[in-house]
Amino acid sequence: MTKINDKTAQGSGKSAELTRRGFLDRIMLTAAGGAALIVAGTTHADAKVAKRVAKYRSSPKNGKKCSGCKHYKGSGTCALVAGTVSGNGYCNYYSKKSGYSY
Ligand code: SF4
Repeated sequence: MTKINDKTAQGSGKSAELTRRGFLDRIMLTAAGGAALIVAGTTHADAKVAKRVAKYRSSPKNGKKCSGCKHYKGSGTCALVAGTVSGNGYCNYYSKKSGYSY
């Protein structure tokens, strides 16, 4: 059996084989996560939700609308929902902007 010359394994009393297994598990998880991002063609930071998923509509709901939502960035852009949104629109991710009243 091949042993890994690893200070952590030597110092902790754990066998080198357990340490090697943990190392390999981490590599597999990292590779799987990276592959998922490549398949999606995007990174977590710029991923947006489709309007259909957010149940976006182009009219307000009970006075709640995009222009009063903390996710609205102006010019028809939302930080969470993909595509152009209306300042008068609404979706299930609505979150009231600080200081906004309706
Ligand atoms: S209500 Fe929905 S679509 Fe409108 S700005 Fe907020 S999160 Fe975006």
